Amino acid sequence: MACHRVDALLQAATARLTGASATPRLDAETLLAHLLERDRSSFRAWPEAECAPALAEAFQARVEQRCAGTPLHYLLREREFWSLTLGVTEAVLIPRPDTELLVELALARLPAGATLLDAGTGSGAIALALASERPDAQVVASDNDRAAARVAQHNAAAHQALNAPVVVADWLAPFTAQSFDIIVANPPYIAPDEPELGQGDVRFEPQHALIAPPDGFQAIQALVQSAQYRLRPGGWLILEHGWQQAAGVRQRLADSGYDAVTTHTDLAGRERATIGRRSA
Ligand code: GLN
Repeated sequence: MACHRVDALLQAATARLTGASATPRLDAETLLAHLLERDRSSFRAWPEAECAPALAEAFQARVEQRCAGTPLHYLLREREFWSLTLGVTEAVLIPRPDTELLVELALARLPAGATLLDAGTGSGAIALALASERPDAQVVASDNDRAAARVAQHNAAAHQALNAPVVVADWLAPFTAQSFDIIVANPPYIAPDEPELGQGDVRFEPQHALIAPPDGFQAIQALVQSAQYRLRPGGWLILEHGWQQAAGVRQRLADSGYDAVTTHTDLAGRERATIGRRSA
């Protein structure tokens, strides 16, 4: 089989992805750059570069998977979060840029030498971002899904400097003898009948990490209740939630006796995280 020029490969892949992806050219370039271990900019500098047949075939197979809806980052097996490159598999949600808001909220409230739990860590994104920023903090993470915990453990090991043990467990369950300065979580919060579940990347993501039956509040409610017994007086619970859930989360925090309850907006200006302090 003949070699392929990268410009021809990209042109064909872009045409194939048009309609299937909102960003066909970008997806095509990102997939090819990843396979060839080059920067996307090289395609503009050397459009006539040749691609070996086996790599061209692997590229075309990934383009077909992308056409069928597989999220780009499951094909790349990695996603940037904060300043870290994290491995991802189908066992974990692909970290969202919006979730960096939780990292900012925690950083602004971490005392020196703090203890922090990332409950339901998935890829480990929040825990590892915080551990990277604050080597003085004792960061732990939990996830009840063994395959997800393995991804987080792999990511913790890949960023060797980061000391963030990952425990296979439900939320706060194993930490009965500990108290934390901060508990942070991006729990499942989508109601099972939300139409967004039928569109885009979420169709391929672990449903147990997305959906909280019956109304999207189950995991949030459980965390609000249990976290108050695992926070130091004055410690903070930091929760991500859906953009229409802010009032409901504030109400639940207030009902459980948290004070200083406030909501914070994501990159799109939507109410995305709510925090509360365990009263002293
Ligand atoms: N923010 C994600 C989404 O809208 C959901 C993440 C979650 O349920 N924790 O797809």
